[in-house]
Amino acid sequence: MTTVVQKFGGTSVGDVTKIKRVAKKIKRKMDDGQKVVTVVSAMGKSTDKLVELANDITDSPDPREMDMLLTTGEQVTISLVVMALKELGVDAVSLTGWQAGIETEDVHQDARITDIKAENVQKHLDEGKAVLVAGFQGISASGNITTLGRGGSDTTAVALAAALEAETCSIYTDVTGVFTADPRYVKKARKLDSIAYDEMLELANLGAGVLHPRAVEFAKNYNVSLIVRSSMEDVEGTLVEEEATMEQNLVVRGLAFEENVTKITIERLPNRYDTMSVLFTLLAEKGINVDIIIQQMTADHGLNVSFSIDTANLGKALDIIHDNKAELCYSTVRHESSLAKVSIVGSGMVSNPGVAANMFKVLAEQEVAIKMVSTSEIAVSAVVPEETMVKAVEALHAYFDLDAKEKEKIEAVKG
Ligand code: ADP
Ligand code: ASP
Ligand code: MG
Repeated sequence: MTTVVQKFGGTSVGDVTKIKRVAKKIKRKMDDGQKVVTVVSAMGKSTDKLVELANDITDSPDPREMDMLLTTGEQVTISLVVMALKELGVDAVSLTGWQAGIETEDVHQDARITDIKAENVQKHLDEGKAVLVAGFQGISASGNITTLGRGGSDTTAVALAAALEAETCSIYTDVTGVFTADPRYVKKARKLDSIAYDEMLELANLGAGVLHPRAVEFAKNYNVSLIVRSSMEDVEGTLVEEEATMEQNLVVRGLAFEENVTKITIERLPNRYDTMSVLFTLLAEKGINVDIIIQQMTADHGLNVSFSIDTANLGKALDIIHDNKAELCYSTVRHESSLAKVSIVGSGMVSNPGVAANMFKVLAEQEVAIKMVSTSEIAVSAVVPEETMVKAVEALHAYFDLDAKEKEKIEAVKG
């Protein structure tokens, strides 16, 4: 008997009708003779609503209590799906993260999974039950309930698939697969039949919200056969695998983008060996994630340093820089918000020089200002004004030959 793991995201379990549909899907798989583990997210936008409740009480909710609060969302879903299954005459059991043996670091709100003790899940499967696991949650060594970061149910599913050596891990969502760009923004986005782990990892890290980056990391490390597909329509999804063949010799597989980027520039820091380490340690100690960093020598041998952060962290970052002016010894600090990061990703870039040059040419033609740039082996990112983001993405999508043909567009719209 094969074991399969599947995950249904928030919109796919958004109301009772959808929950009943998920239960029927599980029953069908079990009738086919499969052992089925199903990971679910909180219903619809309920995690957002829980966050709002906390924010109505305090500006800085206690991280432990926040995890206690947010994990209730997934618990609602697992129990309702089990009730729906029992109505269909299927034996089923719901398990919280800790009951499913999902152990994490002792960190709140963004914990990494450290181990999965899957014996309990396996025991219920062997007893012929459908197993429903609450996504996005685990337990730390000190016995605290933790969460894996927003979107983390994907990671629960892939990690369980790895631990159970499942045949496949299907991520059911509100689109028909992984597209060349987010189809909500880019009307000509095209569904990919397959994509390589490394490309998907870059896309996810660079803002393509369709998969949680750590889920892709797990899938790559444990060679999990990962499929992204629609929970509404029975159409082929996208296979995420070790090596995907690039159609028509394209160099770019897809585009990712994210808003809410702020660039901070600190001018005339002293040109010392430890300047960068002091500055970025101060920021790291307060949990501020820094993305792109640019360092430049001034004519009089001082240093100008620019870096980008999530705009949500701007106030905190400026406070740290101001509070430590004496130690940092800079002259001025400036910032620019309302920026976005646009990235092109494709493993074909490794062997094709000039991809970045072509990207800059397209942005220049569109009169998009480039504020910062970063590259990896298989990605190039440019920070641009937020209001030019969609225009830039659409132009790059067309230039790199990713636009869908008419027939494919119809499917994207339906998804
Ligand atoms: P779920 O609740 O099922 O986890 P998410 O909202 O987290 O769903 O992820 C699905 C969404 O990801 C889609 O609705 C789509 O707007 C967005 N998305 C971003 N980039 C892509 C992409 N490259 N391909 C497909 N969807 C994408
Ligand atoms: N419910 C959580 C969130 O909204 C986890 C998830 O859906 O993956 O982020
Ligand atoms: Mg998601």
